[in-house]
Amino acid sequence: DQGLQKTSESIFSKISKAVVGKSKVDEDVLDQLEEILITSDVGVETTIKIIRRIEERVSKDKYLNTAELDTILREEIASLLEENNTQDLLDFDIPANKKPYVIMVVGVNGVGKTTTIGKLANLFKNAGKSVVLGAADTFRAAAVDQLILLGNRVGVPVVSHGMNTDPASVAFDAVKQGLDSGADVVIVDTAGRLHTKVNLMNELSKIKRVMQKFIPDAPHEILLVLDGSTGQNAFIQAKEFTKATEISALAITKLDGTAKGGVVIGISDQFKIPVKYIGVGEKMTDLQIFNRKEFVDSLFK
Ligand code: GDP
Repeated sequence: DQGLQKTSESIFSKISKAVVGKSKVDEDVLDQLEEILITSDVGVETTIKIIRRIEERVSKDKYLNTAELDTILREEIASLLEENNTQDLLDFDIPANKKPYVIMVVGVNGVGKTTTIGKLANLFKNAGKSVVLGAADTFRAAAVDQLILLGNRVGVPVVSHGMNTDPASVAFDAVKQGLDSGADVVIVDTAGRLHTKVNLMNELSKIKRVMQKFIPDAPHEILLVLDGSTGQNAFIQAKEFTKATEISALAITKLDGTAKGGVVIGISDQFKIPVKYIGVGEKMTDLQIFNRKEFVDSLFK
């Protein structure tokens, strides 16, 4: 897959270099593998888990060949991802009792949140679904205008009250318009100000409460957008947001221009949250539904 190529080359070529001139998986190879996984942003916790699992296999088979390392690593990564990503494909058949399907999108500025919402709207629209967007990130200067622009480009209505207005009131109107117009999906943008955690929690709870006035189980999905190229920052943001609200899915962006695809493995494992989408470019069509098998394959191409 074109979009993921940079991500993949790196981990694979590093491993190939690490095993040059070695026939057996020994302590030294494992040490190097550990370093490669950590510098690829898999995260310390998940790296240790993977190394332990490989150590177990090495201890079972003392003569484990380095040529088999790729296969074993691939199996271990696939099994880790499988534990947290049971649903590979988004079910576009939205059940009648979840219509409109309400998605609340959270994430800090700059991660690609607004772009991802535009891409999501495009994805749903192309699947024949009608979409309403809610511009409830009323805090960041250009967020409302940017969402209106993307909405126009994709061809979906955007509910907005302008800048510095009450986000909950925008969310209220977006869900209402979604219901009134018989829309399939309502996607609500929110502001992500991590430096004031209590405010963030309060704001998100308030948005949820007003949505629930119309739809008791809304939002059906709380999607956290993380920038895959920011390594440890993405882990920190995942930690903060999971403390502030119940994150049900992840969108990991900017995996096109980075060698840091390990974030996908580490965050999904550490926080037990499925990765639903990956961003692989700036265009509206550059959002892919996360596919476990394709992703693992791309790491070892
Ligand atoms: P927000 O502040 O989180 O809403 O971020 P924006 O949606 O404004 O995105 C910030 C920048 O990242 C923009 O220049 C986007 O075009 C870019 N961007 C978003 N997603 C991706 C992606 O998957 N790949 C690349 N290369 N750029 C992206």
